[in-house]
Amino acid sequence: MTQALRHDAMRARNLALVLGAVGARGSVTRAALAEITGLTKTTVSKLVGDLIEGGLVVETGTVRDGERGRPGVEIRISGQRVAALGLEVNVDYLAVCVVDLARTVRLRRTQAVDNRAAAPVDVIARLGDLAATIVDEAVEKGLRVVGGVLAVPGPVDMTSGVVHNAPNLGWRDVPLASLLRFPFPVRVENEANLAALGELWFGSGLPDFLHVSGEIGIGAGLVVRGRLFRGAHGLAGELGHVVVSPGGPPCRCGGRGCLEQYAGQDALLTAVRGAAASIGPAAGTRQAGASGEVRAEEPREGTDHATGEEHAPSPVPPDGGAGATPGVPDDAEAGAMPDVPDDAKAGAPVDGEAGATSAVPTDSEPGAMGGVPDGGGAGVTDDDGPPAHLGRTTWAEAAMTSASPSPEMLLPAQQGLSWVLSRLREGDENARAACERAAWALGVALSSAVNLVDPDAIVLGGIYAPLFPWIGHTVADTLKAHLGQMRGAIPPVVVSRLGAEAAALGAAGQVIEQVMADPAALLQG
Ligand SMILES: [Zn+2]
Repeated sequence: MTQALRHDAMRARNLALVLGAVGARGSVTRAALAEITGLTKTTVSKLVGDLIEGGLVVETGTVRDGERGRPGVEIRISGQRVAALGLEVNVDYLAVCVVDLARTVRLRRTQAVDNRAAAPVDVIARLGDLAATIVDEAVEKGLRVVGGVLAVPGPVDMTSGVVHNAPNLGWRDVPLASLLRFPFPVRVENEANLAALGELWFGSGLPDFLHVSGEIGIGAGLVVRGRLFRGAHGLAGELGHVVVSPGGPPCRCGGRGCLEQYAGQDALLTAVRGAAASIGPAAGTRQAGASGEVRAEEPREGTDHATGEEHAPSPVPPDGGAGATPGVPDDAEAGAMPDVPDDAKAGAPVDGEAGATSAVPTDSEPGAMGGVPDGGGAGVTDDDGPPAHLGRTTWAEAAMTSASPSPEMLLPAQQGLSWVLSRLREGDENARAACERAAWALGVALSSAVNLVDPDAIVLGGIYAPLFPWIGHTVADTLKAHLGQMRGAIPPVVVSRLGAEAAALGAAGQVIEQVMADPAALLQG
């Protein structure tokens, strides 16, 4: 390595060191930076000068006493120049957002579209149009979008950007990265992974948790000590295809009885519709065999589970009528869906175990996101509004707190869900039964996940965020029934602060992390 190359490498490392220290401290003087990094004050001043020139940090102008009584100008991350683009293609919507380097959401757009009916090239063209609009608006605000990440609901080859199999989109071996046309680099990543990272960076901030993205498909992302666990092939977290019942209804993945067939959005909506038409089972009909194994009803003739038409898959055995409980021994409670407490039936959340379900709202009306804290999340700036906390402005929360949420405030995936939520708020028994069944199946699948990976907490996101008041207890109770004897305490089940926008935020967050890790690459570019 030549001396010049060594110098460049050292400068790059020091720039990252200084920028990281600013990011970690929030605001810090040059003198303090020298102490933190071990670099000389002269070196720090030069590096800070480069970072200011690149628009990555800014002087606040606030003068205060330094660490040793000397005045100093504080430096903080600048949200005025560098920004990241988050993109998401999901089954029934597109989403884009722009987040600045200070992690404030500056712009966001969603578009309802059934991507199952479109060719990948057309989906990406539509997404490109949506992104171009928002990037133009970002430029008008003085922002420079330096990169993007695209979230897709399926396993992605991180190197090639090929989506090997997104069953809910009907995509196989789609070279998605090569279809993207942006004036900056855009990578492709799995939606559930990005949603978990979104929760890490913009939501709860817990260092160890399993995040569950409930959409038409169900994905999970495992965060361990602040880092995403991808698995050997990047395929970890396919929770939707964890088997709840081996003899259950066929799944698009080729298997049978997957969680997705019980607790995915299509399955839930169809179950509620089916229950509303009095063809589905009522509450209390979930069954367990002697082993605790739940048997599943075979798909009814003429039912197309691929389209989610007709009726929902149900864990009611073929020989069990609504309300019947054949084959359930008295001691099979550990495997059976536990009764839902009366207060949960009324939609009112209750306190969980010690330390458990800590985010279960305790004082809110049904449908209210009582577990959303007031502070700590990312700020959001609407196009012409002031920054506001995400917890006050998520689409998910809009679906919950408004008696008649305006359609544009809902992610398309939640427009069908809003009908379910309205039924739940009205105390509809059938809708509640459908949610309890989905929650029970989710609890069963999560019990296996907990046994395997021992997460510190379980965060329910996507459609499960607005549904949380009606599913949180049953999920927690099912976990306790399955895990209680082995473990002193089950992991707390908490609601995501972000809901359905977690993946797009995580996508933008990845770009920000990349800039923070290697600011020299940006300054040279
Ligand atoms: Zn499956």
